[in-house]
Amino acid sequence: MKKIETTCVHGGYVPGNGEPRQTPIIQSTTFKYNTSEDMAKLFDLEASGYFYSRLQNPTCDNVAAKIAQLEGGSAAMLTSSGQAANFFAVFNIATCGDHVVASSTIYGGTYNLFAVTMKKMGVEFTFVAPDCTEKELNAAFRPNTKAVFGETIANPAVVVLDIEKFAKAAHAHGVPLIIDNTFATPINCRPIEWGADIVTHSTTKYMDGHGAAVGGAIVDSGKFDWMAHADKFPGLCEPDDSYHGIVYAKKFGKEGAFITKATAQLMRDFGAVQSPQSAFILNLGLESLHVRMQRHCENAQKMAEFLQSHPNVEWVTYCGLKSDKCYDLGQKYLKNGSCGVLSFGVKGGRKAAEEVMKHFSLIPIETHVADARSCCLHPASATHRQMNDEELVRAGVRPELIRLSVGIENIDDLIADVKQALDALGK
Ligand SMILES: *Cc1c(COP(=O)(O)O)cnc(C)c1O
Repeated sequence: MKKIETTCVHGGYVPGNGEPRQTPIIQSTTFKYNTSEDMAKLFDLEASGYFYSRLQNPTCDNVAAKIAQLEGGSAAMLTSSGQAANFFAVFNIATCGDHVVASSTIYGGTYNLFAVTMKKMGVEFTFVAPDCTEKELNAAFRPNTKAVFGETIANPAVVVLDIEKFAKAAHAHGVPLIIDNTFATPINCRPIEWGADIVTHSTTKYMDGHGAAVGGAIVDSGKFDWMAHADKFPGLCEPDDSYHGIVYAKKFGKEGAFITKATAQLMRDFGAVQSPQSAFILNLGLESLHVRMQRHCENAQKMAEFLQSHPNVEWVTYCGLKSDKCYDLGQKYLKNGSCGVLSFGVKGGRKAAEEVMKHFSLIPIETHVADARSCCLHPASATHRQMNDEELVRAGVRPELIRLSVGIENIDDLIADVKQALDALGK
């Protein structure tokens, strides 16, 4: 096993003698075969190979393989977005009539997917506070619970999840833990090492890192024993009529069942593919992920310390600060740094926050985060505007919260911009 920095550069695609050095963009919808028998084997999942890029594409597979190596997983797939990744990861095991336990401080888009859209599909969610007691967490489970879901570092609340606590509860109830590792990236945390079974990403964020391509990924640890809980997971442990009765957990084992099923059924039917062009761009981002994450964390730490010292700032949330309620969890799960995203509350509440937002000059307002370029957002008036104040507080997003995504620019320039915006308050 190579060190992670080397995997960022060399993982996935391995060229043969005389082949392209960079992973080729296989911009082809379809693949040619000489006999119908060759093709039939692919359709029956009897042989592996490419036939149509909605199911699999070599460029996407090369990049997925790199992400699997980075996370220490057994298999991975790319999706068109992080939303598609989280939807597939959950829907692959929880369908109509099932139930899922999720941390309440998750990304607004994921909350909506779970609480509104998947609810309409018949999947129910119970949301628990990430800092709930083990007793409270265990009480959220039902006989029809099929998974537990959380984010390593929640977007935008930037609270750190106690992954081991959630994994322990999930496994005690015979279900897998799904962790969205978008903000930490495998550079700073590898959730599988702490007990997570499935890891998801919005690759739109740090993995791409340049605001260039929307995308997602799902990684399977290959560790969850589906057959040991066959009654809970009929989709994996009973015959699939749409593939001549194959049983995914038997045919592809612990290592391959989850991703094969998600590809063969969900990607086939929903078609949320990442384009080969986007996968190529994502791979360029992955090649420098380790270097960028280090700078993001260094800059964010300095920014957090500056904010803490400014008289117009009420509070700062960043687990690198000793005063942060997640400092200890950060020291445990994110030893080398957490991410470039932090949040702070301006003195004077929602109105003051709106005022400060008007004065940023170098740092623009964007719904985006985790980009090489710094950006900021006031979630209460943007991404979270469909939530009322009570829901906002429960999701860990106070009305005065400003989310700052610290980029890889020179930190002195960034601090100067934030300082002049804060100094302008009330003037
Ligand atoms: C952005 C984000 C998503 C959604 O990803 P998209 O690529 O925008 O669809 C999911 N989870 C987290 C933690 C995110 O930050």
